[in-house]
Amino acid sequence: MFELPFEIDQVLEKLCHSGYEAYLVGGAVRDMLMDKPAHDYDVTTSATPEETERVFEGYKVIKTGIRHGTVTVLVGNYPVEITTFRREGSYTDGRHPDAVFFSRRLEDDLSRRDLTVNAVAYSPVKGLSDPFGGVDDIKNRIIRCVGNPDERFSEDHLRLLRALRFSAVLGFAIERGTAESIHKNAELIRTVSAERVFSELCRLVCGDGARMILEEYRDVITAVIPELSALDGDAYAHTVGSLSYTEPFLHLRLAALLHDTVAAPSGRDDVCVIRDTAAKNALVCLRCPTALCDNVCRIIRYCGSDVDPSDKISLKRLASKTGIKILKDVIKLKRADVLAGDPRLYHRLTDLNTAYDTLCETEENGTALDVRDLAINGNDVKGLGVRPGPAVGELLRYALDGVISDRVENEKAPLLAYVAEKISGV
Ligand code: ATP
Ligand code: MG
Repeated sequence: MFELPFEIDQVLEKLCHSGYEAYLVGGAVRDMLMDKPAHDYDVTTSATPEETERVFEGYKVIKTGIRHGTVTVLVGNYPVEITTFRREGSYTDGRHPDAVFFSRRLEDDLSRRDLTVNAVAYSPVKGLSDPFGGVDDIKNRIIRCVGNPDERFSEDHLRLLRALRFSAVLGFAIERGTAESIHKNAELIRTVSAERVFSELCRLVCGDGARMILEEYRDVITAVIPELSALDGDAYAHTVGSLSYTEPFLHLRLAALLHDTVAAPSGRDDVCVIRDTAAKNALVCLRCPTALCDNVCRIIRYCGSDVDPSDKISLKRLASKTGIKILKDVIKLKRADVLAGDPRLYHRLTDLNTAYDTLCETEENGTALDVRDLAINGNDVKGLGVRPGPAVGELLRYALDGVISDRVENEKAPLLAYVAEKISGV
């Protein structure tokens, strides 16, 4: 029924010929049922890891997680993860089973899985095995727990966020009983490690259905990002709305999610710095990688800046301060912010679009926006008789501003003359 990569077919067939059951399971089956290309193929089998190793004698076998029953077999250059059917013991830490037991029954293995859409198995010999109605749920675009949701969520608290993530990414609605249980158990998500939470959250916010999930499950989201609890209902709805109007790039989505995390204290002009600090706290707590965190915070820091497209020089000065990529992202965020707001203010989009186009032109023209882009460097300035020290940098910045404001061309001779004039005038 499904066309499988040759290597996967070979793995399933070899296990079958040796007398074991073997199926594809999880994401690959879900994707194939949705007519989407599968990205990773997980094989589950009745063979124990030792038996699997014997079946694949002569192949390179990596004991990926032998205690949990997983070995990776290299078929050609293609790594295939093969996991023995498992049952799980009780859960006491809210994340991992205390013990796992190998089983010879496929249904045991499917019953420990989180969602029905992830609990369908497929074998070229036996076709689909679907004891929990996952095929119908995929067809009807529904996210539903396997078994009793309260039990499943209290066993492994990460499943709360996985359910939301799959719903947001696949655009599936969450079944009523599962939804009620998520609300009831929302607080449990606090016990899960920040790394796991962050990785699910990243996928969730980039999903096409992120808006609805963030709106409906604010309880789970604020348990994960407490900074968002300071927003009133309207501000939260606006935040989520603006997120939905950004392209699904992680840094933009996170910037949108966190750009309003602190309500503006009246009469302060450093609101953006305060917001940037709140966003940084949130991201650091989530163990967000530093480069991503810096990127997001910079976008937030400058999202209060005026971008007036009629004043190209000021725009270029701002780009020189923020970096052009950041400023383009700032404009994208400002655009999303307008789109999520009062339609009477949509006229603001025109200016933002013009400013964006100007920045694209500036980028294409290779206009100097950083002292490193200048046709002169520190040695050239010292060659004019300036002693090493802060004055060199100041003069380079002066030269850069001359270029940005079209007072001098970015070529060596005119720049040196421009700087020399400044020196003699001081
Ligand atoms: P994708 O790779 O696109 O995220 P996937 O379904 O392959 O989707 P994985 O996280 O790779 O998701 O997990 C593989 C399978 O393992 C899932 O389909 C599910 O059956 C099971 N699974 C993963 N995590 C859990 C969990 N926390 N609780 C129960 N089952 C899980
Ligand atoms: Mg996967």
